[in-house]
Amino acid sequence: MKMGKESMNKTPLQFDSTRPRLLWCTCFALAAAIVFGPGCQSHHHKNAPQPKVETKESQAAITPEEALARLQEGNARFALGQSRQRNFPAKVRATAEGQYPFAVILSCLDSRVPAEIVFDQGIGDVFNARIAGNVLNDDIIASMEFACKASGSKLIFILGHSNCGAVKGAIDNVELGHLTGLLDRIKPAMAAVPADVQPRSSSNKKFVQKVADENVHLVMKQIRERSPVLREMLDQNKIGIAGGMYDLATGEIHFFPN
Ligand SMILES: [Zn+2]
Repeated sequence: MKMGKESMNKTPLQFDSTRPRLLWCTCFALAAAIVFGPGCQSHHHKNAPQPKVETKESQAAITPEEALARLQEGNARFALGQSRQRNFPAKVRATAEGQYPFAVILSCLDSRVPAEIVFDQGIGDVFNARIAGNVLNDDIIASMEFACKASGSKLIFILGHSNCGAVKGAIDNVELGHLTGLLDRIKPAMAAVPADVQPRSSSNKKFVQKVADENVHLVMKQIRERSPVLREMLDQNKIGIAGGMYDLATGEIHFFPN
């Protein structure tokens, strides 16, 4: 009984275990600095992870392909439980004067798919627009234009996920306040799934997944069609666009081939 309780407490804490340790280190370093002088403090600084900060120049040097590779590598680290240890307060201070994110990500509202975490990115690394069903609207397009044209991001990434409630809601014709209009945006993806995928209901996992896949592809296509600003940048290879599907069960993203 006691063992069970302990292990239950241990697992969620493990991910964040650096925090109390950092706090203790900071307290110890402060005390040591008072007692022993500045030498001890500099030793502590040497061991603390120093944040890597993007600059206008480093952002400009990244290609769209490299930006995609960063997201792929980040998700691989995350899925293996090898996410980078991050000194968030230091990164907050280091990015206070400006931001140079290398990508803009559109992903779902779903609480289980926080983009920065599943791509193992830190403060200031990516723009992130989240909306139920990762659908497109004028404000999301405007945000992407801001990210790419005004702020220099090199990649637009559309991230869907398995077992998406918004996709299932669209399939079930859910009607609820403003949600009705949002779910309508997913319905063209249902029509894009071949007719032989049956039954076309939210209880058919294969159909739900195919609608989610088509939804990502349609959003990628719509961005090109609806935004002359982004279309021009895409045609000139100044930016790239890519999509993928997050698996809620494994934490892995399947990156769609371009
Ligand atoms: Zn979702």
